[in-house]
Amino acid sequence: MYELKAVHKRYGLAKVALRKIDLTVRDKEFLVIYGPAGAGKSTILNILAGITRPTTGDVLRDGVSILHLPPERRDAAMAFENYALYSHLSVGENLAFPLHARGMARAEIDQRVKRIAEILGIGHLLDRRPGFLSGGQRQRVALGRAIIRPADIYLLDEPVGHLDAKLRHKIRAELKALADDLNATVVFTTTSSREALALGDRVAVLNQGRLEQIGTPADLYHRP
Ligand code: ADP
Ligand code: ADP
Repeated sequence: MYELKAVHKRYGLAKVALRKIDLTVRDKEFLVIYGPAGAGKSTILNILAGITRPTTGDVLRDGVSILHLPPERRDAAMAFENYALYSHLSVGENLAFPLHARGMARAEIDQRVKRIAEILGIGHLLDRRPGFLSGGQRQRVALGRAIIRPADIYLLDEPVGHLDAKLRHKIRAELKALADDLNATVVFTTTSSREALALGDRVAVLNQGRLEQIGTPADLYHRP
């Protein structure tokens, strides 16, 4: 379980990005942070990942502050909307890269690559170079590479944001199935209410740095 305690974030002197946020991420839940551009969603993910420090407040993992832990000791896997692939490596090699980097055994790497490629519908592309893929295929590979390694928490920053609607719907369903399957803790950001309600076990509504509501889709849907 992760907890943000009264997390306040200012950029520079004037810009307040988060205003005293109290937010719990429960083990194995799919938490969606929903809000318009500029609401502070990425800032929350960056703070959980250890890329950004809160100005004041604390971040706890299982009750222990992790503020002093650098990103490489947080065990968070992060995916952004815009990410580059290694153009000189095949799709399969791109997917395997984070696993090789951790010294995982060959057989386990092959198994994980196969599984994630199947889920994302890119199993037939494993031998291709990124230059020969469509934009949507590239984004799937990049998403796969970001989430292929085992991690304590997966931080997904609008990972399907710039795909067309049809592909977004497809990957959305796949992601949800994948998270259920991995029994993973996921924090996912979106500007789409539809996406938030479709994916979230719980949805946190963020606006201008304030946490306005948090609840299950049913809770939020029945509230004005
Ligand atoms: P979101 O992910 O919801 O779009 P962000 O967390 O990226 O929101 O940004 C929250 C606010 O903080 C925005 O007003 C944004 O312009 C500002 N902001 C984000 N990063 C920086 C930064 N590095 N320097 C200054 N302002 C920033
Ligand atoms: P938002 O625009 O809030 O991001 P969505 O991404 O959920 O909302 O939907 C974008 C568009 O895709 C909508 O016009 C919606 O009607 C359409 N749509 C809804 N369900 C599907 C589906 N299963 N496949 C393709 N398009 C869909």
